[in-house]
Amino acid sequence: MHESISHPPDTIGLAAGLYIVATPIGNLGDISARALLVLERASRIACEDTRVTGKLLHHFGIKARLTPYHDHSAASLRPALIAQALIEPVALVSDAGTPLISDPGYKLVADARAAGVNVVTVPGPSALIAALSISGLPTDRFLFAGFLPAKAGARRSAIAELAAVPATLAFYESGPRLAACLADLRDGLGNRPAAVGRELTKKFEEMVTGPLDILAARWADAPPKGELVVLVGPPLPAAAPEADDIDAALTAALASLSVKDAARQVAEALGLPRSDVYARALALRHG
Ligand code: SAM
Repeated sequence: MHESISHPPDTIGLAAGLYIVATPIGNLGDISARALLVLERASRIACEDTRVTGKLLHHFGIKARLTPYHDHSAASLRPALIAQALIEPVALVSDAGTPLISDPGYKLVADARAAGVNVVTVPGPSALIAALSISGLPTDRFLFAGFLPAKAGARRSAIAELAAVPATLAFYESGPRLAACLADLRDGLGNRPAAVGRELTKKFEEMVTGPLDILAARWADAPPKGELVVLVGPPLPAAAPEADDIDAALTAALASLSVKDAARQVAEALGLPRSDVYARALALRHG
């Protein structure tokens, strides 16, 4: 005799849990095979905007079971999604890219974990990583700061907080604010190398690179259209002091200090190895 086991039709082979599913940032060809499988089989898909996700699912012939979700959605919605994810597969998508990256989902994932839900990643596109990967700026360390504040004062304070961070900085920005943002970055961080990624993965994709002042001037009178990522290289290394400057500092210090103390003071002030400065101080005193 044949044993027949019945499954809910759309959950076959997909374990219960909360699936965080990345979707394309402009090019539908970037959807992953696994994202399609999970979206097809999830009992429910929580999304930012049901029209946006409805269109995406329609394109791939997937029947929508959509629930609008924001982290500030009705308090009852999150527990309901979590209760469902304990027994069935539930997916979370955003309008585009990776959920939680400047998009809703943080509270849902945090609460789901606390409730013992199996939280699963279905990774894929994100504008941040797409931009970094083609900018030519250092990628070994980066800090993603999301959207800078729209008001100039708050934006400048936020930039000042980032000035000493030894990493590439990444921001999301809109066309109308781009030039002001780039000018504030130049004033707050110095004229560092930078890059602006526009309409990534879409027909008019471009990556424009250059120092912050050139990029700020480029869009000062003509804000670009489309979606943007702004990247700024790490702090520029301080220029090494010239030999004449070291001698001048040592001569001034030797007027009142011993060779040892003068060397220590100047080495600390100029960020130089103490032994090198000591040798030079000796030569100046006795030479
Ligand atoms: N979660 C998304 C991700 O993983 O990239 C980001 C969502 S955030 C609300 C949207 C912002 O991402 C846009 O305003 C823009 O700054 C940036 N962005 C999204 N798609 C982009 C693209 N194709 N090219 C450049 N920037 C993009």
